[in-house]
Amino acid sequence: MHYKIIVSLIAFFSLFSVLAQKTDGGDKVQFKMINVNKDIYMLQGKGGNIGLSFGHDGVFMIDDQFADLSEDILKEIAKVDKKPIQFLINTHMHGDHTGGNANMVEAGAIIVAQDNVRTRLQETIIKAEDKARGDTKILPTITFAQDMTFYFNGEKIMIFHVHDAHTDGDAVVYFTQSNVIHTGDVFFKDRYPYIDLNNGGTVQGYMAALEKIALLADDDTKIIPGHGDIGTKKDLEAMASMLGNIYRRVTHHYTNHKTKAEIIAMRDFTKPFDDLGFGNGFISTEKMLEIMYDDVEKIKGKIDKRNMEERLQEELMKQQENKGGKGE
Ligand SMILES: [Zn+2]
Repeated sequence: MHYKIIVSLIAFFSLFSVLAQKTDGGDKVQFKMINVNKDIYMLQGKGGNIGLSFGHDGVFMIDDQFADLSEDILKEIAKVDKKPIQFLINTHMHGDHTGGNANMVEAGAIIVAQDNVRTRLQETIIKAEDKARGDTKILPTITFAQDMTFYFNGEKIMIFHVHDAHTDGDAVVYFTQSNVIHTGDVFFKDRYPYIDLNNGGTVQGYMAALEKIALLADDDTKIIPGHGDIGTKKDLEAMASMLGNIYRRVTHHYTNHKTKAEIIAMRDFTKPFDDLGFGNGFISTEKMLEIMYDDVEKIKGKIDKRNMEERLQEELMKQQENKGGKGE
């Protein structure tokens, strides 16, 4: 009898814990708390990688995934250290990195971000259909233009803005003693990156940011990417060089009057990376080429893609119109 009660209680509680970890999509989220170096951890769940520093001052957190995961994220953090979260850095404005902001403020965190993150989040509040995103609690209370430094948990933590990269509000966090860098979405490991042209991102800014971060890193630096597993300085350099090559090829074809559809269909210069699975993540090869094309078009302006005959025809028409005009 007792045995039966215990079995059904176990069944009830395991069902309960499964439900507790379900998200809107109904998928169970498996959290992974990974020790990166010394007291720095990476928490993977659903959305952007969370960075964490634990120590005598409290918890220092980078990004917070989605609102419906906050309770579980707080539990995962408490398993390592029960001290409260003091500061939460938003690496940029996207919902898979800032979705838990209001909940983390409730839990006592102070949100810090680059100026443009606050501005962009304010815009999402105005447009919000989703109530959780319409709450002014999601806004950073401390913002900075270029960079700022924290002295926390016995280490110097440098936060700096990289311009017009993934968005226009990207911040990179460098734990100088632990030799760990959280890049936000300015780096994806082994995947094509997402460059959000509608929120101020640019391909050239993205490549420059990768190079800047690589300059700070040495061979032992652990890189926490926005998405994917921990990377190295070599991964940053490889990503910058890959993007440079692809961008040059897209620019070349663009100036040679290839259409967007033609360029998106090309695979010769992406093949080595496609073969490594770079296009199997959130950003497919097509999507990446489309971003490249749109970026080139933004910089170079729309190119006249008509053939020579069509252009000459128009030129003749114009000249005849002008002649007619002079006669009056
Ligand atoms: Zn993002």
